[in-house]
Amino acid sequence: MHLEYEPMIRALDEALNAHLAWGRQVLRSALTHTVPGADVLDPAAHEVCQLGLWLRSHAGMLQGINAHKAKALEAAHHRMHDAIRAIMEQAQTGQAVSAAQVDAFEQAQDELMRLLTALKGRLVTEAIRHDPLTGLPLRHGLEHDFSDFQKACRRNQAFFYLAMIDADHFKAVNDRLGHQVGDQALRHLARTLRKNMRGNEPIYRFGGEEFVVLLQTHSAEDAQHAAQRLLEAVRTALMPLSQQEPLALSVTIGLTQVQDEDDLSSALQRADQAMYAGKQAGRNRFMLLDAPAQPPLAQRAG
Ligand code: GH3
Ligand code: MG
Ligand code: MG
Repeated sequence: MHLEYEPMIRALDEALNAHLAWGRQVLRSALTHTVPGADVLDPAAHEVCQLGLWLRSHAGMLQGINAHKAKALEAAHHRMHDAIRAIMEQAQTGQAVSAAQVDAFEQAQDELMRLLTALKGRLVTEAIRHDPLTGLPLRHGLEHDFSDFQKACRRNQAFFYLAMIDADHFKAVNDRLGHQVGDQALRHLARTLRKNMRGNEPIYRFGGEEFVVLLQTHSAEDAQHAAQRLLEAVRTALMPLSQQEPLALSVTIGLTQVQDEDDLSSALQRADQAMYAGKQAGRNRFMLLDAPAQPPLAQRAG
């Protein structure tokens, strides 16, 4: 899923600022004995304030990150509004507001701020882990996911393949059409690859015009079919250009089976070697390079 973290964080900041401005306005009307607006007295105030609107429009994303915390956030926001409404209604009667009423407000407000700060931290972390150009997770994500993927394949008695995918002659795309079109082409390429992967097969932007894909397959043939499918998808997904022929891209894929003995670096090294061999052989193809056979354990001990 491609999430645009930066606009999301900006909108959250705006909603937070609006919440603080709203708080100042509430304090002002309490001190000056003026009647507060509907954004305080309306029982549905928590749904119409800017923070409430942000929470509603991002409900799906918040659920996806942490369903429990999403619920707690919404509840704290609702409680905070209920508490402030009770305080302001009491103040309007001319009677003193009770300490318990103020406590209820402060507790809800503290909880709300704690959850929002944690959420913002989480979004910022996600933002720096994703490539702003393609929206794909970066190399850091691969480092994080590799051993979990290896364990999952072992558990499912599946084959684990790693594919290193490098765009062919990409420098020429930039040279001929400019860096901006080059950027668009990378986005287009990332989308094409993503669309042709299964949901449980993660893809990362590994470097400039290089991507890494993790595959869980039932056979060596399945892995090769997957690589072939990606090659064809890239070949046939032409990118429209204004006033020019559509841009045709191709990639070269280095494929390797990841063994139990492998770590990320040894698997990447083989995939890279396979990819390089594919470039040498003429590009626009995949090459498979498996680990050298392991000697029997008894021999290895010596
Ligand atoms: P090969 O088929 O051997 O891989 O050739 P190549 O031209 O793709 O390889 P080379 O390593 O010579 O050049 C990679 C090019 O990819 C050069 C670099 O400017 C471009 N590139 C890398 N990252 C980006 C990016 O984010 N945006 C754009 N527009 N270009 C990028
Ligand atoms: Mg490259
Ligand atoms: Mg390249």
